[in-house]
Amino acid sequence: MMSSTTTDTSSSVDVVLIGGGVMSATLGAFLRQLQPDWSISIFERLDNVAEESSDAWNNAGTGHSALCELNYTPQQADGSVDISKAVAVNESFQISRQFWAYLVEQGIIATPRDFITPVPHMSFVWGDANVSFLKKRYEALSAHPLFEGMEYSEDPAQMAQWMPLAMKNRPAGQKLAVTRSLNGTDVNFGALTRLLFGYLASTPACTLHTKHEVQDIKQGKDGRWRVQVQDLRLNTQRTVSAKFVFIGGGGGALPLLQKTGIPESRGVGGFPVSGQFLRCKNPDIIAQHHAKVYGKASVGAPPMSVPHLDTRMINGQRALLFGPYAGFSTRFLKNGSLLDLPRSIKSNNIGAILAVAKDNWPLTKYLIQQVLQSNSERINALRDFVPEARSEDWELVTAGQRVQIIKKDARKGGVLQFGTEVIASQDGSVAALLGASPGASTAAPIMLTVLKKCFADKLPEWDAKLKEIIPSFGQNLADNPELCTQLRDKTTTVLNLKE
Ligand SMILES: Cc1cc2nc3c(=O)[nH]c(=O)nc-3n(C[C@H](O)[C@H](O)[C@H](O)COP(=O)(O)OP(=O)(O)OC[C@H]3O[C@@H](n4cnc5c(N)ncnc54)[C@H](O)[C@@H]3O)c2cc1C
Repeated sequence: MMSSTTTDTSSSVDVVLIGGGVMSATLGAFLRQLQPDWSISIFERLDNVAEESSDAWNNAGTGHSALCELNYTPQQADGSVDISKAVAVNESFQISRQFWAYLVEQGIIATPRDFITPVPHMSFVWGDANVSFLKKRYEALSAHPLFEGMEYSEDPAQMAQWMPLAMKNRPAGQKLAVTRSLNGTDVNFGALTRLLFGYLASTPACTLHTKHEVQDIKQGKDGRWRVQVQDLRLNTQRTVSAKFVFIGGGGGALPLLQKTGIPESRGVGGFPVSGQFLRCKNPDIIAQHHAKVYGKASVGAPPMSVPHLDTRMINGQRALLFGPYAGFSTRFLKNGSLLDLPRSIKSNNIGAILAVAKDNWPLTKYLIQQVLQSNSERINALRDFVPEARSEDWELVTAGQRVQIIKKDARKGGVLQFGTEVIASQDGSVAALLGASPGASTAAPIMLTVLKKCFADKLPEWDAKLKEIIPSFGQNLADNPELCTQLRDKTTTVLNLKE
């Protein structure tokens, strides 16, 4: 467990990172490599880092690379499958893999299996229309270098070999199809976060303060930010001045962004969706499944609510999750306040929030259904994936909170976004990360976006180092099959991802 380590009380630093999640950890690690002389202070309000969304039990740990998630390949009106989003998501994950492989090569991470494990990724559908969609998706993706090696089957015997638990006692006569990719991974983002903060805290001029809550951020006339921090142990307050502030507060990022008062924060709101999983308690059942099996979302479900049966590797132990079931809470953080949502409503974003409430009836209906769901209804949903599921083998656990972004829209008044977005001030002195999908998997490319937005003048100086860290930096793997294969093979070896 990593807790507050410091007696440092510097009131002036180069960089403040707010939040002890995977995003701040990733940005900190980049900055340490690019600019080792900069002083960094990190503030986390909880006792330890990685206790909110980045904790292994608070997310599904899927290394999102669009190998199995059907929401990244929508079917078009003409029946064709659009793979452009899947290509972008996979390309992003390749950047994270390169970043992690660099950290392993540098000895910053000693044992990659401490946070990343190969786990096959599968998509599983039933019914004629879905089977025809999956086949088209497979044909479009398997021809692409980023998705090389994907397999497809409609043969029950083959499926029983790939996912025995899902096929056991399945009613005969159902039309089924599955794709499988052996390039899939399970990532323990909590372990990764702790490894990165452990490294950061061991470097000079970098201090991690847990139990320290940032309560206000204001820019002075000199352009520096005054970050007001409450020490929750001693109940004292101090102000830290910083040239650059990253707001990596997860669900807590929106209120802090609003406090900066930057024009870019105006009109932005948040909509929290909480997650729950069924966790298997029976080791015999856990041992029968080894894959992340993603299905199709029900009508009105937000894209991140696609049901999946998920092998997890957490602290060397295999686990099995099913979900997520969505929930509604007005908290922005799992350890947040019920007042988070009402307090985030401002005169500059209420129009957008009301427009979203009016235009998203299917989502509202879906959330109401989810919240009112009984345990037997949850087990029935699980039986689509595990026909023999018994409620006594599964327990309901609460995962993290995701705050979806609401933004002003000239045409509709407001739109709800399910992606991740970096919002930065024009002078690049402050940036916040909002949203949580594809989330932690794309921490490295998202933090590259922060570097590009906020340190444009430093990029020429950093270029060579960035190419050392991310060998494909400045190039597109999707357009460069040779480089794509070369780097995937390299990261597979360095990250020890061969089963
Ligand atoms: C149910 C669920 C399933 C998910 N599944 C996946 C998945 O399979 N794959 C994937 O890649 N991603 C997944 N995600 C998304 C992923 O978990 C997040 O994108 C990622 O963990 C966000 O990291 P973060 O650092 O931004 O936030 P967090 O990990 O939430 O960290 C933010 C930190 O900031 C701290 N903080 C907040 N406010 C303050 C303040 N004022 N002062 C000091 N500290 C503060 C918080 O305490 C917290 O520790 C999932 C998320 C959920 C909720």
